[in-house]
Amino acid sequence: MNTIKQRNLFQESELLPISALQHIQFCERQCALIHIERIWAENRLTVEGHLLHEKVHDAGDETRPGITIARGLSIRSCKLGLIGKADAVEFHKQANGAQQPYPIEYKRGKPKIDDCDLVQLCAQALCLEEMLNITIPQGAIYYGKTHRRLEVVFSEALRQETESAARQLHALMKKGTTPTAVKTLKCEKCSLVEYCLPDTAGGNKSAIEYVKEISK
Ligand code: SF4
Repeated sequence: MNTIKQRNLFQESELLPISALQHIQFCERQCALIHIERIWAENRLTVEGHLLHEKVHDAGDETRPGITIARGLSIRSCKLGLIGKADAVEFHKQANGAQQPYPIEYKRGKPKIDDCDLVQLCAQALCLEEMLNITIPQGAIYYGKTHRRLEVVFSEALRQETESAARQLHALMKKGTTPTAVKTLKCEKCSLVEYCLPDTAGGNKSAIEYVKEISK
């Protein structure tokens, strides 16, 4: 059952960051450590990612023939319960004078084998659709490593995957507990591996519980 569509709109105070969709898709425990326990650790990849987003947002808005580009645009969806910033939204002028939004997300790396980047971009499109009462068929992700845009079609399947990730995120936050660690290959790339301790008994507990226990 679609709990998002069943319930009333989310209130302002209930909105969760769009960026958390990536965390919950990567690992539920990582998402809980960041958004429930408020633990955050930077690694080279996260620092480079932040710097890229700052650079894009700082570039400001721009107008070109037929296109207006808004950067660092604040967006939200009270249906999905999400809030965030779109790196860039191109507004393409149509023959009838209407402006068609085309969201663009910037990533430092290259296209991934999973859908997490696509879901994050689709969430931005769903926010814009709700805010502007318009349909957005596609957008793009610019990857710094390949210097190329990957065009993304917001298919029904991708929209459902995005809604599902938002529901999973809200369910985790409502529960308010950190899941047990399940060690996978992802742990090698996880910036929180030193807090999570997936190889030890610490991985059965929240980071806060584990620190309290070993301090006794
Ligand atoms: S180390 Fe592994 S189990 Fe722990 S948060 Fe990271 S990805 Fe998840």
